[in-house]
Amino acid sequence: MDSAPADPTVRTTCPYCGVGCGVLATPRANGTVAISGDPAHPANFGRLCSKGSALGETLGPDRRLLHPSIAGQAASWDLALGTIASTFAATIEAHGPDSVALYVSGQLLTEDYYVANKLMKGFIGSANIDTNSRLCMSSSVAGHRRAFGADTVPGCYADLEQAELLVLVGSNLAWCHPVLFQRVMAAKAARPGMRIVVVDPRRTTTADAADLHLAIRPDGDTALFTALLAHLFEAGAIDRSYVDDHTTGLAEALDAARQTGDVAAATGLAAADIAMLFDLFAHTEKVVTVYSQGVNQSASGTDKVNAIINCHLATGRIGRPGMGPFSVTGQPNAMGGREVGGLANQLAAHMDLDKPAHRDRVQRFWKAPRIAATPGLQAVAMFDAVADGRIKALWIIGTNPVDSLPDADRVRAGLATCPFVVVSDIVSDTDTLPYAHVVLPAAGWGEKDGTVTNSERRISRQRAFLQAPGEAWPDWRILAEVARRMGFGAAFDWESPDDVFDEHARLSATENEGDRDFDLAGLVGMSAEEYQVFPPVQWPVPRLTEDAAPADAPQPDSRFFAAGGFFTPDRRARFVPVLAASPLPEDACRPFTLNTGRIRDQWHTMTRTGRAPRLSAHIAEPFAEIHPDDARDLGVGDADIVRLETGFGSGLFRACLTPRQRRGSLFAPMHWTEQFASASRAGALTQKQTDPHSGQPALKSTPVSLARFPVAWHGFAVTRLRPSTIPADYWAVARTEAGWRIELAGLATPQNWPAFAADLFGADAADLLSYHDATTARFAAFDGETLQGALWTAPGPVAVSRAWAAGQLLAPHALSRQRILAGRGGADTVDVGAIVCACFSVGAGQISGAVRSGRCRSVAEIGGLLQAGTNCGSCRTEIQEIIDGCLVLDDA
Ligand code: SF4
Repeated sequence: MDSAPADPTVRTTCPYCGVGCGVLATPRANGTVAISGDPAHPANFGRLCSKGSALGETLGPDRRLLHPSIAGQAASWDLALGTIASTFAATIEAHGPDSVALYVSGQLLTEDYYVANKLMKGFIGSANIDTNSRLCMSSSVAGHRRAFGADTVPGCYADLEQAELLVLVGSNLAWCHPVLFQRVMAAKAARPGMRIVVVDPRRTTTADAADLHLAIRPDGDTALFTALLAHLFEAGAIDRSYVDDHTTGLAEALDAARQTGDVAAATGLAAADIAMLFDLFAHTEKVVTVYSQGVNQSASGTDKVNAIINCHLATGRIGRPGMGPFSVTGQPNAMGGREVGGLANQLAAHMDLDKPAHRDRVQRFWKAPRIAATPGLQAVAMFDAVADGRIKALWIIGTNPVDSLPDADRVRAGLATCPFVVVSDIVSDTDTLPYAHVVLPAAGWGEKDGTVTNSERRISRQRAFLQAPGEAWPDWRILAEVARRMGFGAAFDWESPDDVFDEHARLSATENEGDRDFDLAGLVGMSAEEYQVFPPVQWPVPRLTEDAAPADAPQPDSRFFAAGGFFTPDRRARFVPVLAASPLPEDACRPFTLNTGRIRDQWHTMTRTGRAPRLSAHIAEPFAEIHPDDARDLGVGDADIVRLETGFGSGLFRACLTPRQRRGSLFAPMHWTEQFASASRAGALTQKQTDPHSGQPALKSTPVSLARFPVAWHGFAVTRLRPSTIPADYWAVARTEAGWRIELAGLATPQNWPAFAADLFGADAADLLSYHDATTARFAAFDGETLQGALWTAPGPVAVSRAWAAGQLLAPHALSRQRILAGRGGADTVDVGAIVCACFSVGAGQISGAVRSGRCRSVAEIGGLLQAGTNCGSCRTEIQEIIDGCLVLDDA
């Protein structure tokens, strides 16, 4: 009897943001992978955002690191690992354990993180291991620990749906955590009485969906929430019984809060708007306050977190359905890193470096020869130590600090002088790799097994469904092999990631009588088969008792602190007295404040999302958002190239004039690197000032100046092949379905346009089709019927439909070649415009056309006609904005 073919679909977890969506991945015979949302995963119930939906397009061998190398020469694993082990050992021998460091990533799986932390803190004996999560949410960690005695997220995603009032502070949830945002939008559609307030200096897509948007001045949040605490007291909204039974320090926190002074002046908000928020907060029982990088990435980030938590403790609104402060993490496994002690000031399993009993317990459990006794260097300080020579051997794993850290040019200079740098990565072309003495190929998403923890403490499996290319290895194995070669073999002799996970779970349960929040006792002893199939589970997972529900029963949402039980010595929460942050000092030379952050369809430094053409179709170029009045004062026009300059570096960006931006503030995306643009690394601009409690850098408030970059010409090109060099003062490239699109500008007009165009296309200048007039030059080259490249130039920004031009690389061109030079399709061609819906490649031109023709007047009707917004839903607010714009014009 024939047996049925095995189902090739694998349940796994998205590797991008902290929502932690479940993914179904189905490898196909042709080598591609079909991706869909996992309907059974409790984070997303089948939804995926544009980034998650495009995961299949980011796989494949292109640009992958395939083999270890030393000094640029291919090397065997044995030689590479031996070189790392011997160099680290010799450096420690000569200069002590604090002369070496690991800089790791929230992209790592928990098993990878566990091994890295064990090696560094228990066997090398230094706490010099930190993670790029330091840049993401370490202020939340510090705030949790100050208030709760442990890094505990009290609630779960369902609370956001059940809230009657949802306050989003410094969170563009619609773009940065899109599936969670869609859950909130669905809840609001079902319960229109739910109120959403967004506190953010920018009018973001999230703010568009809010009932109230408070465009707060940068770093005004502490003043807002300290004043709220004082107001809650005055309004009689304090939950006396909760405060008396489960907390301490309210009087001191109120004393500090009452010093806030003029809250309207401190926040830059209208008194009526502040009163509306305060009234809603005081009189609504079910309140959730969500906060993210806008709170954390600040010199007062930890105080902001505690100012928010104070308001929830005072009202007893914590740990009950629809209530609580809620930190959403940026990265897929920022939480897992926290659980294993991936931060330089933490020990494993939520134990503390500064508690001798905790150090003793971990050392005994690991049978470690030593244990780090003092906190290690946090990310910014670690790279300072690289620059000044204190760190002499550094291993960077799964992250790109030359772009992502603040004062990134100094990071780069430091790496250039560091005696020994190891980089483990999956791709071959990051800006950090050129500074590595040893390069190691790591297995990527879909090629390795392990676990991640999302923002609601839910542990999910990432499962392999592809063979790792070349000689790539999973990170936990690389680290364990180095540990063995350093002489620590017995403690690092795992066979597989489930062995590592089991040790991690056992440590969490060791001598844990309920006095530590992180407890995986119920997961100890899983077999390899059980590890392979175990479903998403929220921690804590205590040891099963006789009256517990059966193991296969659905797990209820877990919450902390509804009845107190904090992880302080007296089990009471701490109110933290918070003083409102002082206004940012004025800098006459740099009068603007630079805010950096994410865009909807890109992830971090674009090493993966930059491979998917449809993810570059929404926003294909680095930009700076500027208020139109500020732009006018400086003579900057829309789509001009502008130069931003801070005390750390400078960069070039496309000016995007928008009243969504506050006057005096600028926004630039964090994603662009030297792989994608000539000079638009946001990290090179941002300041390295850090929060004193968390060490998190203040990435959202760097003093900056702005000036028009006086270019003589602008250009736009499409090419089948990426040019090896682009001789322009400003350029930005993005992938298209059949090649590349390139934005260009220069200070001086090229002497020989045909030669310039031919170089760009990789064509012969003699074969170019060209058109010139007094101000423009246009060129095209063909290979048979295929467009090889086209370039349009003008004195100002080039008015060519980008989507149409990129499409010409796909179309046959037997007859219509002159039309390419004209830069537009025929009269019968609909201009797609900028892509709004990345899932179905629907552009703004199509949407506005459908509205103007009278066929659609709602997002639902657009979805019915064009499919836009019907998959991940990330673009629905933008579709609504286009509809509103068209209807306003029509009504005028
Ligand atoms: Fe991935 Fe998007 Fe889900 Fe985040 S919201 S985990 S990026 S699919």
